Amino acid sequence: MQKVGITTTVPVEIIYAAGMVPVDLNNIFITAENPQALVEEAEMAGYPRNLCAWIKGIYATVQKRDDINTLIAVTQGDCSNTHALMETLELSGVKVIPFAYPYDRDYDLLKLQIEKLMDAFGVNWRQVNEAKERLDAVRQKVWKLDELTWQQDRITGWDNHLYQVSCSDFNGDPEGFAGEVDAYLAQVPEKPKLNAELRLGYIGVPPIVDDLYDYLEERGARVVYNETQRQFTMPFATDDIVEQYRLYSYPYGIFYRLKDIEEQTKLRQLDGIIHYAQSFCYRQIEDLIIRQKLKVPVLTLEGDKPNKLDARTKMRVDSFIEMLR
Ligand code: SF4
Repeated sequence: MQKVGITTTVPVEIIYAAGMVPVDLNNIFITAENPQALVEEAEMAGYPRNLCAWIKGIYATVQKRDDINTLIAVTQGDCSNTHALMETLELSGVKVIPFAYPYDRDYDLLKLQIEKLMDAFGVNWRQVNEAKERLDAVRQKVWKLDELTWQQDRITGWDNHLYQVSCSDFNGDPEGFAGEVDAYLAQVPEKPKLNAELRLGYIGVPPIVDDLYDYLEERGARVVYNETQRQFTMPFATDDIVEQYRLYSYPYGIFYRLKDIEEQTKLRQLDGIIHYAQSFCYRQIEDLIIRQKLKVPVLTLEGDKPNKLDARTKMRVDSFIEMLR
């Protein structure tokens, strides 16, 4: 089946309706054997040193794969670095299909964008709605996993992150992925209790380091809310796909995202929030709004390269946990 690369969540229902397979390039990059080597390869090709590592990693990932010749470029609702990424990939012969999330979440504009994407893939509304039903059945299982994370004490922050983040493309095999989630859910009652006294939220783009959740749990704090990853699961009760991608908060402004964050902070009784910001990302600027608006303590962490937490970040996490206690 033909693969279609994506760099952020897009209406994947359309890709599946066309009988193709979406591939979230972020996941391929970060789970590569040596993601840092990919970042360096992009720098060798001419990407600047002071640029978000996700962009460089995705560039080198696509260069290495000869099975990804088509990409969907989100021209609004992502970042300008993604624009330049798409241009450099277009230069290497990759076909780029644009998609834009309207800044003001306008229903009609979003519907038009979805219809243009449907035209590009040659599918109709019936096929897309069938694909939505198919994917919603899988999403519901992941909603359950998320619910058990904050209502019980057995699912780690990493597992919550991993299963939810995988909903951007369903690992290219929705039914296979659903089977994995079922198997995981069946094991939950047997899992040991985490016994972490502090409940944290994680907001911002998914982390480029892979040991944050474990580190927190070793210190008696666990993440029971992963903002962006949860959004990837489209946790909205609607049959209307346009409304679904209108409710999805990640591509829209910070004030809309904050509504979701505030709601979940209350519901999940969070003691504090970690705001993760990627080095050289424009979203770092939004940190000042987040700090002013949220009523719970916020720790802002910055990650640069795909690696482990550095000593300075660990010390900051330790002090934050101590302060919350
Ligand atoms: S982390 Fe920021 S700079 Fe990097 S791709 Fe995402 S939005 Fe763009």
